[in-house]
Amino acid sequence: EDQQQKPKVKQAEPVPRKPAVYVDVIRKEDIQKARLKLPILAEEQQIMETINENFVVILAGETGSGKTTQVPQFLYEAGFALKKQIGVTEPRRVAAISMSRRVAEEMNLSTREVSYLIRFEGNVTDDTKIKFMTDGVLLKEVQSDFLLSKYSVIILDEAHERSVYTDILIGLLSRIVPLRHKKGDPLKLIVMSATLRLEDFTINQRLFKNPPAVIKVNARQYPVTIHFNKRTNENYLKEAFNKAVKINTKLPDGGILIFVTGQQEVNSLVRKLRKTFPLRHKSKLLEKDEEMKNERDANYTSDDEDIENDLKKTLKKSKKLKIIPQIDLDDYSVPDDTENNSDTDLSDSEEDSQAPLLPITNAQPLWTLPLYSLLPSHKQQKVFEAPPPGCRLCVVSTNVAETSLTIPNVKYVVDSGKTKVKMYDKVTGVTSYVVDWTSKASADQRAGRAGRLGPGHCYRLYSSAVFNDTFQLFSIPEIQQKPVDDLYLQMKCMNIDKVVNFPFPTAPDLLQLKSAEARLETLGALKGGEVTALGRAVSKFPVLPRYGKMLALSHQQDLLAYTICLVAALSVQEVLLEVPILQTSPEEKKQIRQKWSATRRQWAGQGNSLFLGDNMVLLKAVGAAEYANSQGKLETFCAENGLRQKAVVEIRKLRQQLTTVIKNNVPESEVIVDPKLPPPTDLQAKLLRQILLAGMGDQVAKKISPEEVKEGEDKAKFKYAYHANNMEEPVFLHQGSVLKKTLPEFVVYQEIYETNKMYMRGVTAIEPEWLATYVPSMCNLSEPLLTPEPWYNPRTGKVHCTVSGTFGPQAWPLPNIEI
Ligand code: ADP
Ligand code: MG
Repeated sequence: EDQQQKPKVKQAEPVPRKPAVYVDVIRKEDIQKARLKLPILAEEQQIMETINENFVVILAGETGSGKTTQVPQFLYEAGFALKKQIGVTEPRRVAAISMSRRVAEEMNLSTREVSYLIRFEGNVTDDTKIKFMTDGVLLKEVQSDFLLSKYSVIILDEAHERSVYTDILIGLLSRIVPLRHKKGDPLKLIVMSATLRLEDFTINQRLFKNPPAVIKVNARQYPVTIHFNKRTNENYLKEAFNKAVKINTKLPDGGILIFVTGQQEVNSLVRKLRKTFPLRHKSKLLEKDEEMKNERDANYTSDDEDIENDLKKTLKKSKKLKIIPQIDLDDYSVPDDTENNSDTDLSDSEEDSQAPLLPITNAQPLWTLPLYSLLPSHKQQKVFEAPPPGCRLCVVSTNVAETSLTIPNVKYVVDSGKTKVKMYDKVTGVTSYVVDWTSKASADQRAGRAGRLGPGHCYRLYSSAVFNDTFQLFSIPEIQQKPVDDLYLQMKCMNIDKVVNFPFPTAPDLLQLKSAEARLETLGALKGGEVTALGRAVSKFPVLPRYGKMLALSHQQDLLAYTICLVAALSVQEVLLEVPILQTSPEEKKQIRQKWSATRRQWAGQGNSLFLGDNMVLLKAVGAAEYANSQGKLETFCAENGLRQKAVVEIRKLRQQLTTVIKNNVPESEVIVDPKLPPPTDLQAKLLRQILLAGMGDQVAKKISPEEVKEGEDKAKFKYAYHANNMEEPVFLHQGSVLKKTLPEFVVYQEIYETNKMYMRGVTAIEPEWLATYVPSMCNLSEPLLTPEPWYNPRTGKVHCTVSGTFGPQAWPLPNIEI
């Protein structure tokens, strides 16, 4: 009987709704409820089956469907963390930190078990089961353990962002996964993407021989109505502000999400909106409170601090009234950016300085929150919480909110259409940040944020013509718009011999690879295509290889602390401002500039210090700023001397990081960590000039002498003109360069940039006889000359002789040198 019944029972048995659970997770009730609403939960079984049956799985799903927070949990429950770790990479630090916290909370686990690691910071322990990290961190791990043997599964999250490191990791993992399989220790790879341009991963024969399994999670996405502006106004911040005002005064309830390009824009827009829609003006119950109303009228000002004070008062009352839940006001404050150096900054507009903002009192109070990568994470967390009752949520964000973080309850999206991109100049190899139109794909992604809970609206602050004609279909993957010197070197260090043949999802162009290789050969990091000992040392530093070389050469004369400081300062953009930003008259601006350049000339000093030039100024500026900081006067100091305050803070962090790398690699090294560095001695300044030459030997320029100026040309025009070794056109000493008085014969420069002319930035004077020693690969030297006769120096034990030669592609004659 039994035997007859069994098949029947089997047939009747429902397909298990969940895959086998090996590890129990006990979640809080409210969290479990919220999870069950996520579309991805309905797909758990299918996802886990696909992962079990395939080595590589691509999981595509709309932002907010639950990929980042849920898939690691599925894997954990299925036992993937029993013996090894579950690794999750994020292109953004924000996401690595915030997602690790969220997942720990959802799973009721400690941050010892669900941890994060970003560059030199994290809470990973021996107990870590799920590890969120930046893609750069995992790439470094591949360098020391190519098979990634401590992981059972790697999730590459946000692959659609096409960050360089994620792209390279996909390429590497496409090889690591089969290797691990061969070893009988399989590794699963899950690539998660918000559905943009999947083909680069799926139908890329070089990447995966067998196309990987693809799962699409269908998120509930409601229709979003797109509204284009009729005209495209250059001042998108003003436009964004106006649009938010209109939404809050005219449109039904629902959160607003505004996309702008950077931290400064976010903060200034937040401040402006808070002034316009202060919290205290509404909350109907409060309004009834006579006492409060009087107080409000008596105290009204539109200053930021006053708003905060008012808020504090309001909240004190409200605690009594129990209307608004207690809010930590520190979390509602916006940092004051004193370094407003963006032309599009709101506070810069004429209108703003003349007419103070008046609060709009007949509208709902707006709970306005900033969101950007560098915002402390407890403040980022605010966007996930419900606004105080009676308030409308308004989040002003960079493109972090495009896909990395999902903000609940957004009904209106305001899209500036702009994004900050890192541009790369193929001539000089130098990068800079430029605000440009985003792509159609990411504009649509932004619009999608409005349709998570119900039908929504997206207001695009540009015309449909601009969208159709100017926007690219997709953003260019990062790998195609930056110099790949550091990647090229890292890959070489991983024994990837032919970088050209590497399975990139989208390959950088050949010229990019060739010029990176050439620069690394010049530096001496590669020799005949092989990594040198110097190259290995250089690859350890999280800065450009040319700066890494400078660090690697600085082990003498207590130089290291100076090189660290200089390299950090050179790696951070726009440390010294050239033009005052505050709204001053042209005369005042001129005065301020004169004052700044007087200070900078003074910083440059004399002798070798002066020859160190713009880089000496940079060193002194950082030292002086750190001194001011130790006195609690950083802000005033920066404002008075034209330093970008945020840059000073970034430099400090980078110095700390570089110091850590050196300590980890050279344990016996003694590096001073004191940020306020005393100025270098004359000898140290000279050595720093040589070290700069060693790092920037491909960027040498030679003064154009009056005789060289062509007949008929105005000689005066060429007073500050130089020949750069790799350029036809003349380049000029910059306006603000402290070397304009000295006009040295040979210089190295940090970068060339173009405005009306080509200018050199970051200029240091060098001696031509150093070229043969520090940039030998670019010198063409004669055999040792026979006259004068070579001579033996018994003291040094060396044979001395004289060589002559030329430097660089233009064969500049070198002075005879004794070697
Ligand atoms: P995806 O990765 O598919 O974009 P996520 O897993 O990031 O989706 O988000 C799933 C849901 O979890 C979203 O609705 C989001 O609002 C919510 N969520 C994510 N992080 C937090 C957090 N820190 N606090 C509260 N809710 C969060
Ligand atoms: Mg995600």
